[in-house]
Amino acid sequence: MNKREGKIWIEGMQTELSGETLAGTGIRERLGNRHSVDVLPDVWVIKIGGQSVMDRGADAVHPILEELLAARRDGTQFVLGAGGGTRARHVYALGLDLDLPTGMLARLGSSVPVQNARMLQMLLAKDGGIMMYPDDFEKLPFFLNAGCIPVMSGMPPNEFWEKSAAVGLLPSNRTDAGVYLMAEFLGAKGVLFIKDEDGLYTDDPKKNPDATLIPEASAAELLASGQDDLIVERVVLEYMTRAEKMREIRIVNGLVPGNVTAALRGEAVGTVIRA
Ligand code: ADP
Ligand code: MG
Repeated sequence: MNKREGKIWIEGMQTELSGETLAGTGIRERLGNRHSVDVLPDVWVIKIGGQSVMDRGADAVHPILEELLAARRDGTQFVLGAGGGTRARHVYALGLDLDLPTGMLARLGSSVPVQNARMLQMLLAKDGGIMMYPDDFEKLPFFLNAGCIPVMSGMPPNEFWEKSAAVGLLPSNRTDAGVYLMAEFLGAKGVLFIKDEDGLYTDDPKKNPDATLIPEASAAELLASGQDDLIVERVVLEYMTRAEKMREIRIVNGLVPGNVTAALRGEAVGTVIRA
């Protein structure tokens, strides 16, 4: 048997990574520039907010779906991710009261966005809405080529493997993060968050009437600013600063007619955050 340094070996297996732990910082630097293929560069990844949109029911959801369907008729392709909202917050509060660990909270929090995604899928069924689960991810090209609108939970499938948060037990990676990371993997055309405020403000406009809109922001500066509350999950900003592809996100108020259409046309509506 062919052995090399005591290990069973096949000639030609030697690469620059053989014998490396992959934990060394030097090897990462020596490997040089990052440039990976764009998997689905013509496809938008769009989140429909849970608390911000779904919980408002028909008045908010129907007009947004109409705009999305009109964009699709004009040739825009997209994948939809659903947020959780008030029901997710209820189960988080209950889980916290019961001292359950972060991974369990993340697992519980996964269920509600699936409900929201299911509702969106049925509303879109006659136009090709199709429910997608993480295991179906590799079928995305098929769904899109068949004219479907893939709908999935925005929650990343970390569940019990959710990393501890910097502070507290609430999972940091929720549906904004899941949707953003999906776009980053796909090398998507863009990622759009449809919520219920005109964009990022200096503070939560629902709690502070003096908050002002910030139409353009830098992820790194926003993280460094110490601003207490944000319209997107904080981890999204962290991921943006080290992203290869998705160096920009846009947040629009889906309650204002025309905003979703404008954003998908590349118009400067809402807030853009850049890495
Ligand atoms: P979603 O259901 O889309 O995840 P969230 O409720 O988690 O929505 O986040 C959107 C909400 O964030 C807005 O409705 C707004 O009340 C709140 N918010 C907090 N801080 C800010 C901020 N700095 N700018 C804008 N909105 C903010
Ligand atoms: Mg949220």
